[in-house]
Amino acid sequence: MIETILLSVLIVRTTWRIFLEVLNLLHSTSPQVEIPEVLKDKLTPELLEKSKQYLKDRTKLRILSETTQLVVTIYLVLQGFPRLERLFLAYSPLLQAFLFFGALGTIFYLVNLPFRLYSIFVIENKYGFNTATKRTFLRDQTIAVSLILVFSALLIPVLLWLLKHQVWWWQASILTFGFILFFWFIQPTLIAPLFYKFTELEDEGLKKRIKELIERSSAKIPKIYVMNASKRTKKQNAYVTGIGRSRRLVLYDTIMNYPSDELLAVVAHELGHHVKKHIQKNVILFSIYATILLYLMNFVYQHILKTNAFDVQRPHTIFVYSFLFVSTISYFLEPLVNYLSRKMEYEADLFSVELLKNPAAMISALKRLVKENLSNANPHPLYKVWYYSHPAPEERIRALSQVQ
Ligand SMILES: [Zn+2]
Repeated sequence: MIETILLSVLIVRTTWRIFLEVLNLLHSTSPQVEIPEVLKDKLTPELLEKSKQYLKDRTKLRILSETTQLVVTIYLVLQGFPRLERLFLAYSPLLQAFLFFGALGTIFYLVNLPFRLYSIFVIENKYGFNTATKRTFLRDQTIAVSLILVFSALLIPVLLWLLKHQVWWWQASILTFGFILFFWFIQPTLIAPLFYKFTELEDEGLKKRIKELIERSSAKIPKIYVMNASKRTKKQNAYVTGIGRSRRLVLYDTIMNYPSDELLAVVAHELGHHVKKHIQKNVILFSIYATILLYLMNFVYQHILKTNAFDVQRPHTIFVYSFLFVSTISYFLEPLVNYLSRKMEYEADLFSVELLKNPAAMISALKRLVKENLSNANPHPLYKVWYYSHPAPEERIRALSQVQ
């Protein structure tokens, strides 16, 4: 029974994903669709055409990747997982788990690799966004894989220890919470510097203005860094990260050529996230979310254990089935997560305007972002509800124009 349910949810999720992609593409590239009024001064018909083409290329790749992943996952569910389990049965329980997760990780990595390579070196290259060389890519991959190996070596024994308990969801939930806090603390100081170079902001004039802004916003952010994002992309961003002493404001070097009032508006938006405690709220929300999912996983786990479903017996294999089951279902909660995220983005925009009293600068920065990142000017409403963690630029601009 549970076999049929798992296969059904996998198929329903992929079908729904592809449906949303096609719906969004047809809507956004339809010839009747016009440039939104608020974007008309920045977005020429040529740019609109280019952004439609960009969307088309990415959507096609996504549909192909979704379909491939579904086929591979169905094979693994029906045959792959049990076969892999049997392959390593002669070893100790810990080694079995390491080999099993290692094999799975390798399979998923290799299945995704061609899509990732095509996305970066063909699509992003074609539209002039990619600046990463093959060498940088290889270096990033080596570091990322090494990090995964280190974290797996630490976490797999913990997982096996947890699975020995009949009820493990609440212990797992406490550990997850601890791990998130730990990760947030080390991410800016230990992880991110493995990939990017961070230098303290040198422009004294700008530094002074940003520090003033931080002080006025009553945020406590001791350091401002510039990150060499341009080594990989031309896309633009800024963020506040870290907990306690590791907290910092990070500016992509790609936004350093913004006019200073626009740059300050973006910084004020990021400060808004901080002052309105969005990071803390996200950590709490995520913990509640994770607890619910872990509870469900424990439930599915016990069910598989009792019914001998899927013809597997080792705790790590049963765990993978319950994880796959619950993570597939959780896709249908994405609209809720993104709804909360969009609310926070509006709040941060509003904060930026309150702090700087300059909505025009934020509007202008958003228009620049649409133009330079070739953002989709006309996403389908349902696609926005499902996937957009930020309100569409057009909506943010309209909301900002109403604040006076
Ligand atoms: Zn934001």
